[in-house]
Amino acid sequence: MKTELLGLRHEQLIELCLQAGAKPVHAEKILASLFRYHNTDLTAIEGIPLALANFLAEHVSTFEPECTASQLAEDGTRKLLLKMPDGKEVETVLIQGPGRLTQCISTQVGCAVGCTFCLTATAGLTRNLTAAEMVAEVMAGQRFSDGNVRNLVLMGMGEPLHNYADVAQFVRIATDPKGMAFSPNRLTLSTSGLVPAIYRMIEDELPCNLAVSLNATTDEVRDRVIPINRKYPIAELMQAVRDYIKARGNKRVLIEYVMLAGVNDSIADARRLCELVAGLGCTVNLLPFNPYPGAIYASPQAAAVSAFREVLVDASIIAVVRESRGRDISAACGQLKTETVKRRKKSA
Ligand code: SAH
Ligand code: SF4
Repeated sequence: MKTELLGLRHEQLIELCLQAGAKPVHAEKILASLFRYHNTDLTAIEGIPLALANFLAEHVSTFEPECTASQLAEDGTRKLLLKMPDGKEVETVLIQGPGRLTQCISTQVGCAVGCTFCLTATAGLTRNLTAAEMVAEVMAGQRFSDGNVRNLVLMGMGEPLHNYADVAQFVRIATDPKGMAFSPNRLTLSTSGLVPAIYRMIEDELPCNLAVSLNATTDEVRDRVIPINRKYPIAELMQAVRDYIKARGNKRVLIEYVMLAGVNDSIADARRLCELVAGLGCTVNLLPFNPYPGAIYASPQAAAVSAFREVLVDASIIAVVRESRGRDISAACGQLKTETVKRRKKSA
């Protein structure tokens, strides 16, 4: 089987060049071709010896996912549906922020966690994405935006820490200064709370930010909305967050909190949330629930969201309300895929 070029780290590429009788500097030429010029054509890499070109042709493969659907929202958010070499499709989203473009990356086809407020959860897990496929998502984003993507968030389809090895490989490729060169401060991994994998991130000194989807303030509610809470309850998760912050020299952790009307949006919840994050220096992102057909939850009232935020702000916690971007093209993550699949079924 051929080696997938997009999934190799710089040092692995150097190894490959040496095997082909070429020099380490040629690995840099390959990285430049891929990530500066967004070129995946192995026959068109400039400045490498013919022997290396022939070696690559024989031993290495590369691919560009086909973009099977693309939608542009009024606020500039663009959703892309990308078809991987085996025909499986994932979403990636380009979000225009003030002065910077952020790309939301999928890490799995589907997800096995089964959160009861999440559209991606409904179909379960199909498979993990490889590091190369995640790199290919970024390359597609760069092609669509003339190379303007500056921030990456692993907040698309999938639970990144259920696919640890490939996600870690991707993070290292994305932050290699000679490769994609994203700043580790501009790459954020979001997890539903897989405690042992958070400790693995600490051990591996994974160069990225951590975001944790807390989404509830009592185990009773969190058990219902994020089933893995039964395995890793809130106290254990918050201990892992504390340990992460300490081990990473007071690194700021982002706490995400999906607000579900009448479930976790009360003032009492806001007060409990303050206690949970007290003294940790976390930023809290409040995400009003994005409804989708068949959802069992409703979006909170605007007044409930602002009252909730007020409690956090009064406790000196930085709290930002993140309205969903691209509302007119889809209500929730995973929806472009769902809609496209439905349309195809209808026309079949
Ligand atoms: N699996 C990871 C990352 C992908 S989900 C995780 O759960 O953290 C990214 C974020 O979207 C999470 O914070 C999740 O809680 C939130 N989310 C999922 N479905 C949502 C919905 N319908 N409305 C609002 N936020 C949602
Ligand atoms: Fe998976 Fe995250 Fe959706 Fe939960 S919220 S089902 S962990 S993608």
